[in-house]
Amino acid sequence: MNSSSSNNRIDHVKKYLQNEEKEIVDLACKLINTKTENPPGNEILAAQVVEDFFKSLQIPYTIHEKIKGRTNIVGYIGKGSPSLLVACHLDVVPAGDDWKRNPFEAWIENGRIYGRGSSDNKGQMASMMAVARFLKENESKLKGQFILAGVADEERGSTLGLEYLLNECEVKADFAIIPDVAHNMRLIDVTEKGTLFLEITSHGKQAHGSRPEMGINAIWNMIPLLERIKQLKFQKTSHPLHTPPTLNLGSIHSGTAPNIVPALCKAQLDIRYLPDDSADTIISNIKNIIKAVETQYSAKFDLSVISNQPPTAVPINNPLVDLISKHTLVVLGTKPQPKGMSGATVTKQLIQKGIIAVGFGPGDETEAHTTNESISIKELVDFAQIMALISLDLLM
Ligand SMILES: [Zn+2]
Repeated sequence: MNSSSSNNRIDHVKKYLQNEEKEIVDLACKLINTKTENPPGNEILAAQVVEDFFKSLQIPYTIHEKIKGRTNIVGYIGKGSPSLLVACHLDVVPAGDDWKRNPFEAWIENGRIYGRGSSDNKGQMASMMAVARFLKENESKLKGQFILAGVADEERGSTLGLEYLLNECEVKADFAIIPDVAHNMRLIDVTEKGTLFLEITSHGKQAHGSRPEMGINAIWNMIPLLERIKQLKFQKTSHPLHTPPTLNLGSIHSGTAPNIVPALCKAQLDIRYLPDDSADTIISNIKNIIKAVETQYSAKFDLSVISNQPPTAVPINNPLVDLISKHTLVVLGTKPQPKGMSGATVTKQLIQKGIIAVGFGPGDETEAHTTNESISIKELVDFAQIMALISLDLLM
């Protein structure tokens, strides 16, 4: 394509989606007004908004429920390959208190949409629905397929959502963009740390508090152990895209009364480790520390793994990073930077299935899960413009 027809295309796409602004706001409000707090979920309410939209445009779609009411909806535009999947989640975290208005009656103020889910993740879904409309009108020009999914259960592990779609419903794609990383389209999530949750149990022996020498105090034994674990050395301590690995002591539970020697103490750890490090090495290092403390203090510990999600990464020079950079520059005049994330998103599950998946999207990093959650309407329009240009480049 020569540069003047390329410029014409860009102008056309930008204008089209600018004109969709009111529609994006309406759709975002409709989605926010469906109460899909997870738990319990009830994503069916938001999925109905998406279903009505797909129906009105004759976009073919499928519906998947592992549990009734925990609805996933997947719409398809075009056929063949490559395919690009964009998944936004339809569930929201509970609203909590202290909102200045009803969190499930969206309102507009100073160019922003307010309400639970506005920035996490319903605003993004509305913006992508506008992109779907645009692509549907241009379907005959597409060689590949655009897939828009509204998914359930993201806020509580995705077992009824994206994981279910990938493992049991044969939803597939070559590429995926997950607009659930905020940071106002300034970064591209290309790698995520591993997330290892551990529980350590200290076993003691109960006795009267006036005669502690008759018992074994599970808390006293836990203290030197935790102090040594705090000094844990990681195999990999630096990475060009990541902050260093971390270790959080998240909970300690033990004891009933001052005059009882506690027989049990449990501590839980959240360890975020870098790509190229391994959970096995971390666990075996912690086991060695446990052994040393057991010998020194006549203590007894158990270690159990609550969960482990390995680190993931896609190559930095993959086509999605190039296209996101190129079109963000066109629309916003800035280039987003590839970054590593300390938190885990559903891109992990996609990458594990061999899909080239990155996180990228609008929203402030301080908005998700807060009271009076909001998102900028301009950002939603900008995002739609960028995503439409990416889709055309990738799928035409
Ligand atoms: Zn989210």
